[in-house]
Amino acid sequence: MLSINSIKNGIVIDHIKAGTGFSIFKYLGLNNVNYPVALIINAKSKRYGQKDMIKIENSINLDYGVLGFIDPQITINVIENEKIKEKVNLRLPNNVEGIIECKNPRCITANERNPKHKFELIDEEQGKYKCQYCEQVYSWEK
Ligand SMILES: [Zn+2]
Repeated sequence: MLSINSIKNGIVIDHIKAGTGFSIFKYLGLNNVNYPVALIINAKSKRYGQKDMIKIENSINLDYGVLGFIDPQITINVIENEKIKEKVNLRLPNNVEGIIECKNPRCITANERNPKHKFELIDEEQGKYKCQYCEQVYSWEK
């Protein structure tokens, strides 16, 4: 059984939705680092049945907003001297920039050369965002 104790200093990304771990692993560029990392897929989870996990034996900066947008169920454990120093439960971020694009062809972002797509969370329960320029609604899918 893999345990958090196997990490001395680093980060454990826990409760990743099963099947999502690999894309987060790649998004973080962990396939191309020189410190120990582990991707665990289909681990048993009391809460969700199955989950993925990523263990990183290093201190790296994570963008909690982007990760929360990818999977708001994630828990981040920051490990220091084999103990959990910080535990962060992610959620859908209030604002996302440059991750999703507005689909409205009449939106200002469709006509500018390098548009910054900005969305604002309007309904966390239903995962609804709206474009900050044209009010087009984007629905976050689980
Ligand atoms: Zn728009």
